[in-house]
Formats: sequence, C-alpha cells, structure tokens
Amino acid sequence: MSRFFSNKYAHLTPYTPGEQPRDRRYIKLNTNESPFPPSPKALERAAAAAENLQLYSDPTALALKQKLAQCSGVQPEQVFCSNGSDEVLYFAFLAYCDKNTPAAFPDISYGFYKVFAQFTGIDYTMIPLQEDYSIREEDYFSLGKTIFIANPNAPTGKLLTLAQIERILQNNPSNVVLIDEAYIDFGGESAVKLVDRYDNLLVTQTFSKSRSLAGGRLGMAFGNAKLIQDLETVKFSINPYNVNSVTMAAGIGALEDEEYTRKNCGIIMENRAYTAKKLEEMGFTVLPSFANFLFASPPGGDGGSLYKALKDKGILVRYFDATRLREFVRITIGTRQQMDALLEATSQILEETP
Ligand code: PMP
Repeated sequence: MSRFFSNKYAHLTPYTPGEQPRDRRYIKLNTNESPFPPSPKALERAAAAAENLQLYSDPTALALKQKLAQCSGVQPEQVFCSNGSDEVLYFAFLAYCDKNTPAAFPDISYGFYKVFAQFTGIDYTMIPLQEDYSIREEDYFSLGKTIFIANPNAPTGKLLTLAQIERILQNNPSNVVLIDEAYIDFGGESAVKLVDRYDNLLVTQTFSKSRSLAGGRLGMAFGNAKLIQDLETVKFSINPYNVNSVTMAAGIGALEDEEYTRKNCGIIMENRAYTAKKLEEMGFTVLPSFANFLFASPPGGDGGSLYKALKDKGILVRYFDATRLREFVRITIGTRQQMDALLEATSQILEETP
C-alpha cells in the first residue's frame, strides 16, 4: 500500500478470483467458464464490430437491449447492460443501499457481495444457510434491507423455487430483492417473468457461463423500468461506455443462436449428472446442483488435500478455506473428456491416500 492510498480503503480485502496459472496447461475446472467456444454467430458479429473500434460504443446499448428484451419477454426499458454481471451488482449496491438501507445476503454465497458492501461502506448482515446448505426463505422476510440472493446459489448449486422467491418479494415490499441468476440456464426457472408483477425485483444474469463469453465481460439486469433508470443514472455517472462495442455485438450474435446455448447447457447438465453419480460411487457427498458446477466433499472431508493433489495432476478445481466450505471442492462441469480426466485423477488420488 502506498502512503497515498485513501484511508477509506486501508482495511479492504478485495475479491480473490479463481487462479489462472500460466506455468503449465491445466484442465481448468475452477472458474465456472464454459468448455465450449462462443457461438460462430457471436464471433462473426464481434469481428465485424471490431472494424469500427475507432468509434465509441453505444452508451444506451439499444440494439442489445432490444434483442435481450425480445428473447426474455420484457420491454427494452426493463433491461440494463453491464460489463459483466459483477458490474451491475456493484451498481446495485450503489443504487439501492445506504446508511438506512443496509444489505443482507447468505453467509455462504458469492464472495463479491461482501466485498462490494465493504467497498461501498454499506453495513451488511450475512444470514446463515441451513444445516443442509439451503436458504430458508423466512430468514429473508421483512428485513428492511436490500437483499442479494444468488439463485442457484454459489458455491452450493442449490436452487430456490419461484414460489419461494415470490414469498421473499411479497415479504419485502419496501426493499429491493436482487436475484443473481448467473447460473440459471443450467436447470433453474428464471425470475425474469416476475418483473412486471414486483417493482422491487431486480434479476441479474450473465453471458459468462451458458453463452461462453466470460472474456467478453457482458452482464445484464431485468427489472421494473424505474429500477433500471436508477442503474442508468449510476452508470452514466461512472462509465457511460461500460460495454464495449465488440462485446455488445458478440452478445447480440449469441442471442441469435439460442439453439447453440441450449444445446451446450444440455450437454453440461448431462455431464453434471454423470460426474455426480461417479463421485458418489467413490464415496463423495455431492450437493444437488442446478449450476454448471458441483460442490462435492471427498471421503474424509479434506477438500484442501484433494484440491492440491488434483492440481499436481494438472486439474484445477476451486477450494475455499473457510468454515463449512473446507470439506468441499467446487468442480466446474466441462466436456465429458474433461470430466473423465477428473474422475480418473480423483480415483487415483483416493487409492493413493492411506
Ligand atoms: N454472480 C455469481 C453468483 C457468480 O458466481 C459470478 C461469477 N464469478 C458472477 C455473478 C459474475 O460473473 P460475471 O461478472 O462474469 O458476469
């Protein structure tokens, strides 16, 4: 830290992204990326857009909003586009939280919620998950706080039903409830269809997982037009050109090829069921997952040792050294070949372990 760094940030613990080592080629199952390349339509549109990079991108993101609205059954005014969904989460902390309206989120969830709360100086409450790692909806009723819930949750993969989400919305009429649907395309039911009925609902999604555009950094939010206007006010006060033109074009291309996305999600879900079954046969405890990852605990419950042993064998998974998490590893679902390599390596490690 330099002697010039603002006191405001002196005690900040930034988010730690999943490692991206370059020392050797790994089978990367640690950051929930898609194992498939972007749709050819996304690449084609991105290449065409790159020819006009001398121009600023459209700060209103109109063409992308129109396409997203059409694909999601909402109006363009109900859509916000961002530089990854991390950015819209950050904007939501700025827009809907303050001294009188702190934040609430599960104690085990996406690590960035806590970082954004600390960075923006917002008080926050972390609500413990139940014994089985699920969210108890009643714990989120009438909190007087802005609520952040990942659905499916990360890193557990567990899903709330739309009926549960509706009850949380109904019991917080004076507060925003943000549902982070980064992983919704892998078997969950989206809350986007509720945005006309609940003016306190904001749903965020991303192109990083099901649409194979993690490096493009494209996210979005759906909500009541007034909520979206608030996000626009924040965005136009920070970075009007937040989504670059190549990414915007790639996003439109990906949406023109929803068949490709659906097919890939189908393969991931098949591979998820296959991998979960094989891990269970080896004695793992595997939480039921609706995401493109599995949260799995090896026999003996030492996630850290398994993580290290897999890394030595060239396979990266994610390990969280924290209470209630260190018994597990989080494994991104990749191709069948990648999963077979993971299963083979895991089986060897279990055999080698006394
Ligand atoms: N929400 C959750 C629950 C996530 O796991 C992630 C991925 N790290 C994000 C949001 C952010 O994804 P992105 O910024 O790539 O859209």
